[in-house]
Amino acid sequence: MHLSATGIDLRSDTVTKPSPEMRRAMFEAEVGDDVYGEDPTINRLEAMAAAIFGREAALFVPSGTMGNQIAIKLHTHHGQEVICEERGHVFNYEMAMMAHFSGVVPRTVWAEDGILTWQHVQSKLKTKSYHAAKTGLVTLENTHNMAGGAITPPGIFNEVCDQVHAAGLPVHLDGARIFNASVALGIPVAQLTAKADTVMFCLSKGLGAPVGSLLVGSAELMDRGRIYRKALGGGMRQAGILAAAGLIALQQGPQKLKQDHANARLLAEGLAQIPGIKIDPSKVQTNILICDISGTGITSTELSRKLAQRNVLANGVSPQIIRFVTHLDVSREQCEQALDIIASTCGAQAQRA
Ligand SMILES: *Cc1c(COP(=O)(O)O)cnc(C)c1O
Repeated sequence: MHLSATGIDLRSDTVTKPSPEMRRAMFEAEVGDDVYGEDPTINRLEAMAAAIFGREAALFVPSGTMGNQIAIKLHTHHGQEVICEERGHVFNYEMAMMAHFSGVVPRTVWAEDGILTWQHVQSKLKTKSYHAAKTGLVTLENTHNMAGGAITPPGIFNEVCDQVHAAGLPVHLDGARIFNASVALGIPVAQLTAKADTVMFCLSKGLGAPVGSLLVGSAELMDRGRIYRKALGGGMRQAGILAAAGLIALQQGPQKLKQDHANARLLAEGLAQIPGIKIDPSKVQTNILICDISGTGITSTELSRKLAQRNVLANGVSPQIIRFVTHLDVSREQCEQALDIIASTCGAQAQRA
């Protein structure tokens, strides 16, 4: 889809473009061959990520999907199950790679707002049996993308980790947007994620980098992870060019997320006023809005097509559900404009119906 210069792109926070400062840093980046461990900019980025998360090591990967799938491979054996939330990214949007690459099957459980509690996990957790596959790993997602950017309360997260560890199993956190949770809660990511065995987070979303994610954890796990990264084709060479933008995203990105959250709240309050659109603004804690538009009488495909004609972009999740995501490259004014356009588009539809 083409976007004009004045378009308002609310499809995802992945659409952010690198800032002039990032482009300058990329231009000037010191580089080497990262497969040999010789790219100084990558090494700096990995060291900074490890320090921020209070871990021994970090591994730069081209995408969040690769980070999650390396983690699943690290923690599991073929023939096991991975417990995850039903709408989770690792299950729905990673091309069945957990089956393809790690030979494991997802054991899903639906949880209110995507927040897996120990009760949910316990109901699906299986230890050794001669009848059923054993659980190999529990994955959590914070914030939860398809549950409207919902934050897992730290107490719930810590309890799941403690109990899963007591059962002798590891926990991986898909923290693609963990900085959104951290900023919204006012709790550092190191504290928020301390109990997970591995954490993946994205530089390429709200933090604003053009490419890249990191996996953090123990030195031993990251060292083995490096082998799987190479196997998956993720051994990049002079990738310091990417890490240079990543360093800026990691240092300056988090403090900018507050504005995205305020913009999302503004959008939510406006959308809740539009007849036919269902959303509870009090549940919008971060930068993602999931709206039920069944009351408008049109499908999300049709609504996004009509909005695109007026330069507002949004992605349908299902025929009844549409998602809006705020980020660095949409201003408060643009959110207000988008609201007017969505309201008049839905209003015109209501008049015809
Ligand atoms: C975006 C995202 C990922 C990783 O996506 P990539 O496009 O592979 O970088 C993982 N988990 C969640 C929850 C996400 O939103």
